[in-house]
Amino acid sequence: MDKKDAMTAFRPMDDDHHVYQCWNCGSLWKFEADGPYENGWNVCPHCGLPIARSLEADDVSV
Ligand SMILES: [Zn+2]
Repeated sequence: MDKKDAMTAFRPMDDDHHVYQCWNCGSLWKFEADGPYENGWNVCPHCGLPIARSLEADDVSV
């Protein structure tokens, strides 16, 4: 696997409580409202990978 362009994505785990999980490291993060981008997050604080903007994309490295 080529990791030089590694990215992750945050997927919603609990829409009612704004809980998101990092696709790469599995860390759970809870936001006061909305999701990571709405809160100004560009990278995962735990694993440090850039967060892909589109959660719908199958290939987050694009
Ligand atoms: Zn992470």
